[in-house]
Amino acid sequence: IIDVRGVWKRFGDVEVLKGIDLAIAKSEVTCIIGPSGSGKSTLLRCIAFLEEYSEGEIYIEGELLGFSLENGKRRRVSDAEVARVRRNVGFVFQQFNLWPHMTALENVAAPLKLARGIAREDAEKRARRMLEKVGLSHRAEAYPSQLSGGQQQRVGIARALAMEPHIMLFDEPTSALDPELVGEVLQVMRDLAGEGMTMAVVTHEMGFAAQVADTVVFIDHGVIAASGSPQQVFRHEENPRLRQFLQNYF
Ligand code: ATP
Ligand code: MG
Repeated sequence: IIDVRGVWKRFGDVEVLKGIDLAIAKSEVTCIIGPSGSGKSTLLRCIAFLEEYSEGEIYIEGELLGFSLENGKRRRVSDAEVARVRRNVGFVFQQFNLWPHMTALENVAAPLKLARGIAREDAEKRARRMLEKVGLSHRAEAYPSQLSGGQQQRVGIARALAMEPHIMLFDEPTSALDPELVGEVLQVMRDLAGEGMTMAVVTHEMGFAAQVADTVVFIDHGVIAASGSPQQVFRHEENPRLRQFLQNYF
């Protein structure tokens, strides 16, 4: 459902991704781990086309993202075409990015009205359903400043889910949270995985990765240095860089 082939990303002459190959099948959960600055966020942002990749191909549900290939030449397609291909991809950031002047309900409903042109009543009905899904029906009328970090992040997840994505990308969704609030967000993600959502999750939560991931991918200096089942990656690591990285967690 996601197919990343030979993807490079450069910022000027800085090579951040150096030939990434990654396939994520429908309903699979892939956790992406690796040191700071290794390129994890950049990879996720390329998959969402928040960042234009420099080389290679990314296919979302069989469609080439961001470019067309004519006689082997890559050409940037229109923004509308990009939007069409990534329409089914939801993104959750480390920072919750909620609108402070809108209630939880309005935060979830607004994109439905603005980006999808759904009428107010239907948008709010769907928004309520999504808030219920993340356990926040009772906080629908609260403003972000009145919510805990964990609740704000769950609103962020509800907002992404309201767009009915087929794929969810999470970039360190719990890293900005106090430790006691991490669990409630991971639980929502675990439930989502259980429902068969296709997910790519950049995370430092190794317990979550071990329990929920089908595949764990270790990125180091812009390359995939190891990948496999959690058991393979966490138990039988032969890569010294991976072993060193994991020592911080186990
Ligand atoms: P972290 O764990 O700290 O979030 P990361 O693995 O997500 O790290 P990235 O954010 O993908 O790392 O960054 C990888 C490298 O790319 C870093 O060296 C960073 O400085 C560089 N980089 C990222 N975005 C840009 C940009 N817009 N312009 C220039 N360099 C960038
Ligand atoms: Mg990052």
